[in-house]
Amino acid sequence: MTTLTQPSDIARETLRQLAMRRIPPTPDNYHALYHEISGTTAAEGFPERALKHLAGALPRNTPEQMRFARQLDGAVAGKSWDGLKVALVDMLDKSAAEPPAWAALIRDLVVQFEARHAELTTARKRESLEHVLASSGTPETLHGRLQSLLRAWSQGVSSSEALKLTEATPTAAVAADTAVPPEPTFAAAAAAPAQTRQLGGDLKDLIGQLLENAIGVLLVETPDLADEARQLAAAVRATRSTEDIATFAARMKKFSYRLNFVAEDQAELKAALLKLLQLIIVNINELILDDQWLQGQVSVVLDIVSQPLNLRRLDDVERCLKEVIVKQSTLKKHLNDARDRLKAMLATFVDRLASFTDETGGYHDKIESCAKKISRTNDIGELSDVLDEVMRETRVIQLSAQRSRDELTEMKSRVTEAEQEIARLQTELSDAGDVMRHDALTGALNRKGMDEAIDTEVSRVKRHGTTLCMALLDIDNFKKLNDSLGHDAGDAALVHLTQVTKETIRPQDTLARYGGEEFVVLLPDTTLDDAVTAMVRVQRELTKRFFLHKNDKVLITFSCGVAELHGDEAPMDAIKRADQAMYLAKRSGKNRVVAG
Ligand code: GH3
Ligand code: MG
Ligand code: MG
Repeated sequence: MTTLTQPSDIARETLRQLAMRRIPPTPDNYHALYHEISGTTAAEGFPERALKHLAGALPRNTPEQMRFARQLDGAVAGKSWDGLKVALVDMLDKSAAEPPAWAALIRDLVVQFEARHAELTTARKRESLEHVLASSGTPETLHGRLQSLLRAWSQGVSSSEALKLTEATPTAAVAADTAVPPEPTFAAAAAAPAQTRQLGGDLKDLIGQLLENAIGVLLVETPDLADEARQLAAAVRATRSTEDIATFAARMKKFSYRLNFVAEDQAELKAALLKLLQLIIVNINELILDDQWLQGQVSVVLDIVSQPLNLRRLDDVERCLKEVIVKQSTLKKHLNDARDRLKAMLATFVDRLASFTDETGGYHDKIESCAKKISRTNDIGELSDVLDEVMRETRVIQLSAQRSRDELTEMKSRVTEAEQEIARLQTELSDAGDVMRHDALTGALNRKGMDEAIDTEVSRVKRHGTTLCMALLDIDNFKKLNDSLGHDAGDAALVHLTQVTKETIRPQDTLARYGGEEFVVLLPDTTLDDAVTAMVRVQRELTKRFFLHKNDKVLITFSCGVAELHGDEAPMDAIKRADQAMYLAKRSGKNRVVAG
């Protein structure tokens, strides 16, 4: 048979042979046959799964066992044969280095058996010794239990407690024949003071620290309980006897009841505050019926506070509310000014009208008296005087009317100006959206908001040494969607994408509109692989939640590039890398995520 060289030919031949020889087509069989045909040797794989299973079954009851198991876990995770070798050799060395020292054990037992103990009679010592002798199946078990007994006696613990101890706390040797080693619990510790004393410092100190630092800090608002936590911390550190531990346990029980009440109170308080916040926001919303921009901002805030809170969310709420307040107060001030000006104009207008009416009233009186004079007179000379008077009065009233008309015209133009100014202010305020942090259409952060969020995240990365990934996504064939369904549908599609993305990413992730149909997602504390997975999840979600246009389902897809921010890299450089990766995603067929 001729030797095949092309991998695709070898693969085809492998499949043919599998079928011909009726070998089950498992990956292992395929692998072996492939190498048989190509005349190569199979690279030996690392049996990670099997070894993980094995490592998982190792006992982890003693520090020594834990150390060995962790050593093995590390070697398996790192797929390191060398690591495995070191771990196994180390374990065998250790077990060989510590043969049960029977002679010393028996000598010490005899010494302790004969020694006088305040709480231990010889009869009780014998009883516990017999129990151990009768119940230990293997020499290792016996050795371990005798050692425990020795420790208990040398600390003067009563035999029954020592007995409990030898049964309840298996040593490494005892563990070998104990199917399920009992969990060491606080109750067990209370029943087994010798063990508590051995675990000693560490556990007591941990409980002490927990009470003082963690719990104490949470109780700043209930000083008496914080005080009790401090006292309990001191009490646990001072425990020496079984009685001490029992007293401490009783106090802890009471304390934990009270702690529960405090926790419930705090949860209720938080819920009530949240409700209050929602109420305030709903009210603001009703006050600003006429301003679309503000309504958009307010619904963003409402959206945020209707989900469980975390610190990032509260940050967001604070930012949004500040924007709303700034914008509302500016708008209100300008509208108040404009209203005052209109009021002043109206007052002048009324004054003018009154004086005009006065003047015309006087004119009417004058004309009437002139008319009377005309009807009474027969003298033409006197008539001409009366006419002169009529002419004079008419001219006065004409001038006054002229003046009033001029003033009214001027006032009208001032009102128009004021109206125009109000319109200009409204536009200016809407444009002010650009310097705010949220995009008016989608409610996602705008560029300015994104820059600020990046600053915050980068400083978190620096403080905590965590990672930050940035994803840049660009909707596929969006122009076509706009052309076929209209610009409004395009806008609605952008809103839909924003909603789906926001609901799919984690609360600590941030979505920003980077440009027309391009968005950036910041993924703090995330590895590159996980960030890619997260963005693929958004893509999948979009295929499940169609965008509805006039009851038609429209599938929106996007191409995405992801980059992880390197050490001292400028964030915009990482976005640039994400952008390049996004173009690769476009070039390789769209609707995919590429790591940059
Ligand atoms: P590609 O898959 O390569 O990304 O193609 P595309 O059509 O998505 O990309 P192109 O850059 O050619 O077109 C983007 C379109 O997005 C053009 C623009 O009119 C539209 N667009 C940008 N901003 C908005 C917006 O706010 N609303 C609407 N409706 N359309 C927008
Ligand atoms: Mg684009
Ligand atoms: Mg596009």
